[in-house]
Amino acid sequence: MIWLGLPRELALVWWGTVGLFVGSFLNVAIYRWPKDGSVLRPTRSFCPTCKRQLTWYENIPVVSWAVQRARCRGCSQPISARYPAVELFTSAVWLALAYVTPHEAWPLLLARLALASGLIVATFVDFELREIPDQVSIGGMWAAPVLSLLVPELHRDTWIAHYVSRSSEVDRAGALAGALAGIAVGAGVLYIVGLVGERAFRKEAMGFGDVKLLGAIGGFVGPGGALVALVIASFLGALVGVANIVRLFAFARSRARARHASNRISTSYRAARQLGGEIPFGPYLALGSLPVLLYWSELSRWF
Ligand SMILES: [Zn+2]
Repeated sequence: MIWLGLPRELALVWWGTVGLFVGSFLNVAIYRWPKDGSVLRPTRSFCPTCKRQLTWYENIPVVSWAVQRARCRGCSQPISARYPAVELFTSAVWLALAYVTPHEAWPLLLARLALASGLIVATFVDFELREIPDQVSIGGMWAAPVLSLLVPELHRDTWIAHYVSRSSEVDRAGALAGALAGIAVGAGVLYIVGLVGERAFRKEAMGFGDVKLLGAIGGFVGPGGALVALVIASFLGALVGVANIVRLFAFARSRARARHASNRISTSYRAARQLGGEIPFGPYLALGSLPVLLYWSELSRWF
């Protein structure tokens, strides 16, 4: 393994750089997966506007976008800032995970990087299209038990994994139990929240995509990790939701004052509630599981 021979600082530079190129690949998945296209075929990237194939020097993460001043060299249509943003964000997440994971534990690092990369795809697809690709959620629920068998350390901080292993070291059976329990608790708790929400608000409160996504997250971080990720996600989601509603109310009141029409407020209140219900939850689940992935060994000691 090439990075094992490197001093720690250089290894971090290596992971950050690989993260940039992986981010470039994740951009392809974000673009193609919702259309049910393959990420491998066609192999060459193309401009989404003029469909022209990109040369290698138009495909360098962040650099090409900056050099071409955010425009396609063929049709000169603007290229979304999402592309370099995904590349830089992926690089930062890879660097952070490589930083907290011991150098020698590279199989554990690779398993965590796989989850983090899938979550980045889910986040950006959910923001744009309000849906979570099954490749990430269902794919993650399959990948978690398989990776847990290959890399039992994935569940070294999962209580049930230790209970099944009957030792301080987690064995394969324990890790598998941790993954399956994590999927069941992650998906189960959001499914129940969805059922309760449906009764209370008489409309779909929780998308099934979110249920599957927290199942996949639980498969990697165990039942406790899934619950903590959900708490962090709800907190972040509530903060943004409240900020949105306050903004809408302020807007509605200024409109109402201008028009002397008080019923505007109730119309806008309904609009605010609808908007509040439409906030995609997937990105918050993904963001909430990031601190769990990074600090679960420390966090789990509190419980
Ligand atoms: Zn073009």
